[in-house]
Amino acid sequence: MKTLNDFNFKDKKALIRVDFNVPLDENFNVTDATRITSAKPTIIKILEDGGSCVLMSHLGRPKGVQEAFSLKHISDDVEDVIGVETKFVSNCVGGEAETAVANLKPGEILILENLRFHEEEKNGDRDFAEQLSKLGDIYVNDAFGTAHRAHASTTIVADFFPENKCFGYLLEQEIKSINKVLKTGEKPVLAILGGAKVSSKITIIENILDAVDHLIIGGGMAFTFVKANGGSIGDSLVEDDKLDLARDIIKQAEAKNVQVHIPMDVIAADAFSNDASTQVCDIKEIPDGWMGLDAGPKSREVFHEIVMQSKTILWNGPLGVFEMENFANGTIALGNSIAEATKTGAFSLVGGGDSVAAVKQFGFEKKVSYVSTGGGAMLESLEGKTLPGIAAILK
Ligand code: AMP
Repeated sequence: MKTLNDFNFKDKKALIRVDFNVPLDENFNVTDATRITSAKPTIIKILEDGGSCVLMSHLGRPKGVQEAFSLKHISDDVEDVIGVETKFVSNCVGGEAETAVANLKPGEILILENLRFHEEEKNGDRDFAEQLSKLGDIYVNDAFGTAHRAHASTTIVADFFPENKCFGYLLEQEIKSINKVLKTGEKPVLAILGGAKVSSKITIIENILDAVDHLIIGGGMAFTFVKANGGSIGDSLVEDDKLDLARDIIKQAEAKNVQVHIPMDVIAADAFSNDASTQVCDIKEIPDGWMGLDAGPKSREVFHEIVMQSKTILWNGPLGVFEMENFANGTIALGNSIAEATKTGAFSLVGGGDSVAAVKQFGFEKKVSYVSTGGGAMLESLEGKTLPGIAAILK
């Protein structure tokens, strides 16, 4: 696996695919610069070697060229984060971009305009990728958030750098973190899967059964498993067409010696509302008219014990409807348990969609070992897929 440290960038121009798809407010101010900060170590290494950086990214979902999606809006933020003045060129391919790259000196940073102003980017167009490839000596992919897409800048362009291509530090760390859970992690390995639906996580569950010793299934997903086992779940979220599948997953887990843990109690509510009346119920005995919206106190205690015994922990998906304050406590308690286990030496990876939002919202970001920067890319990795952007570098 070729990484940044395999190259000396002195007098080289690095063409870096970054993920600067950051959120902007109505005045085009960046409201969360995490993705820019995440690319900083890669950019700094190249500049310190005596090279220059040509940064390419997409921003949003423009239809053709749309000013609102211009990457020029973020160039000041890149300057602030990296601490180096940046140049900007209003196209990502063609003569203007090539001239800007030709004029780039060691220690300088050039930001190319939004890749998705050209539909060839998403189509993975070869000619477009070849044009991009003229803008650097070494191709560096540091965009985990788009590594599951076979786009021109994330995958196809790598073909034009048969020897001179590598992962940036961010992508390297993402790959290592996932491998730690799926392949090399110290045992016992625990995966916690929560969130709304079993259907969106089936492939992940089936794939991780080979890697884990314990599996906690929480959140809305849990009720399909409880009902499949004959429990009464009242009006809780359920996927009736997945009951057989739930039974099959339990069988597969038993065959693979994976211990599956489902909440034993829930905070049940009489409406899907923060102001609903609540009661603590056994998860198998939820009355009609009531729905489980969070893990109950007994479950939190049991989950704490399991987390504390684990040496490698993956967390994907909240344990309850954490967006409502009254149903966030199970997710917060789990976050606290994972933080404590991490402090005492466990490796913890949080990734995929809403769990990242929850971790940030409740301030656990610095208390876990690693928070993945890729939603879809993380989920596909956990499904066991080799992402096209990663395969293109390994090829
Ligand atoms: P996912 O995107 O599949 O990870 O699902 C995240 C969503 O699951 C969040 O918006 C949560 O509010 C929701 N969720 C978690 N637990 C429950 C539950 N018990 N009932 C309904 N929705 C839930």
